[in-house]
Amino acid sequence: MMRTPFRSVFFALALTLLLAACGLTRPAFLRPTPTPTARPVHVVAPTVRFAVIGDFGKAGKAEAAVAHLVHSWHPDFILSVGDNDYPAGEAKTLPANVLQYYGQDIAAGRFFPALGNHDWGTGSIGAYLHTMHPRGNGRYYQFSWGPAHIFVVDSDYHEPDGAAPDSRQAQWLKRHLALAAEPWKIVAFHHPPYSSGRHGNVQRMQWPFAQWGATAVLTGHDHDYERIMRNGIVYIVNGLGGVSLYPFPHKTPVKGSVKRYAANYGALKVEADAHHLTFQFITVDGKVIDTYTIKR
Ligand SMILES: [Zn+2]
Repeated sequence: MMRTPFRSVFFALALTLLLAACGLTRPAFLRPTPTPTARPVHVVAPTVRFAVIGDFGKAGKAEAAVAHLVHSWHPDFILSVGDNDYPAGEAKTLPANVLQYYGQDIAAGRFFPALGNHDWGTGSIGAYLHTMHPRGNGRYYQFSWGPAHIFVVDSDYHEPDGAAPDSRQAQWLKRHLALAAEPWKIVAFHHPPYSSGRHGNVQRMQWPFAQWGATAVLTGHDHDYERIMRNGIVYIVNGLGGVSLYPFPHKTPVKGSVKRYAANYGALKVEADAHHLTFQFITVDGKVIDTYTIKR
């Protein structure tokens, strides 16, 4: 039997779709969303300056003011301690909540996010991974920049590798804190192990950070600023990135709390060389609320 041109076209189309279904060829419309590649970051420099923002992802005047503040510092990079996209970390809200303020930093590879409970809001972080391009497995990862080695941890209970002191994730942190050769080892995540704020202490995150060699632990979740000296290291809660302000509840502050502030939005500026590491919490109107320097 002779094949008609119509039948040839039909067979060609059928073959294309069959191959596509088998994953052998992929027409553009069947291509999966590209997965973020793990770009290792190891920047050699004598000094580093970075901004830390927390609980910021809700488009509006406050987030815009904080973004303006941190960009005015010309930081090497921006580190987020979570709750990047309210209310639930969805693809439809990411452009307004994150990209319009920090899109250029993300595109330039100088934005390092941590996951917060709101980013896990739908139980899936697909949109977050696709938009924010976090390193490593996308949930917890590390990088070094000059004298600072940063470890980003996923403190949410959704974390598949666990968020408790004996979890697979915690073992990863312990191992890599021991291996890091930089003078300053900074651990960043969302839920504060210690906090005098509205949410209070998150016990599952009370890992032995000091014993494992961390210099500082930076978190958010409570929409306030607090510096706590505990176990011989500094813990900073920094959740004034633009969503709302949580006044401190009328109760005794947690042990080691030395500074508390919740009157205005702001961000943490961190500067380091081989011998000094300085943290400053600065408000959107430029007021320095707290300065803390570690020397070695
Ligand atoms: Zn939170």
